[in-house]
Amino acid sequence: MNDRETRHKQSMQKLKERVDEKVAKATEQRGLLLVFTGNGKGKTTAAWGTVTRALGYGYKVSVVQFIKGMWECGERDRLIDDENLDVQVMATGFTWETQNRESDTQACLDVWQEAERMLADPSIYLVVLDEITYMLKFGYLDVARVKQALQHRPTEQTVIITGRNAHRDLLDMADTITEMHDTRHAFNNGLQARRGIDY
Ligand code: ATP
Ligand code: MG
Repeated sequence: MNDRETRHKQSMQKLKERVDEKVAKATEQRGLLLVFTGNGKGKTTAAWGTVTRALGYGYKVSVVQFIKGMWECGERDRLIDDENLDVQVMATGFTWETQNRESDTQACLDVWQEAERMLADPSIYLVVLDEITYMLKFGYLDVARVKQALQHRPTEQTVIITGRNAHRDLLDMADTITEMHDTRHAFNNGLQARRGIDY
């Protein structure tokens, strides 16, 4: 074996030891709270990717779409016929289009009731609360109420929260936080959101 091969073998051996150590330490098994936040693209697509993954094993999945429920959504169209998937959408247009605080709050609270039902149902393996961070930011939904439902959810249930500027309290509770970093976005160079890519 030459020098390079020996060095590679040694560094692979070290890597294996480190990974084995981490695997040995990860002993707990329970549902997780994941937060996909930040200004970059990928939060909602990552959530739907996980939805697809869970459905692939035959688990029951529920998705609540706050804000963009009335929008076109390719991944929802593709998956909706799966009997294990339930999607609830907020019955209003985009919030800065309607600009009616009272009706938006009501629409938010209506769909939040669906979320509470999901978060109390042990048969649901994964719950996605897409764009819920804005509901807290606009004050349509009380963070204490959301925390309460998350804390009391079934032990085996995983929840994904998406949206920019996630509330501090939600971040404190999260097991996994991924901050999508906006290194560059086509939109800022005059490129339109693209069907099948952006929605
Ligand atoms: P996606 O749905 O593509 O995963 P996202 O959930 O991370 O995106 P949102 O803030 O929910 O991002 O925005 C939804 C729409 O805005 C998508 O069409 C997305 O491509 C676009 N978008 C995401 N990040 C940016 C950005 N930094 N600048 C401009 N547009 C963005
Ligand atoms: Mg999104």
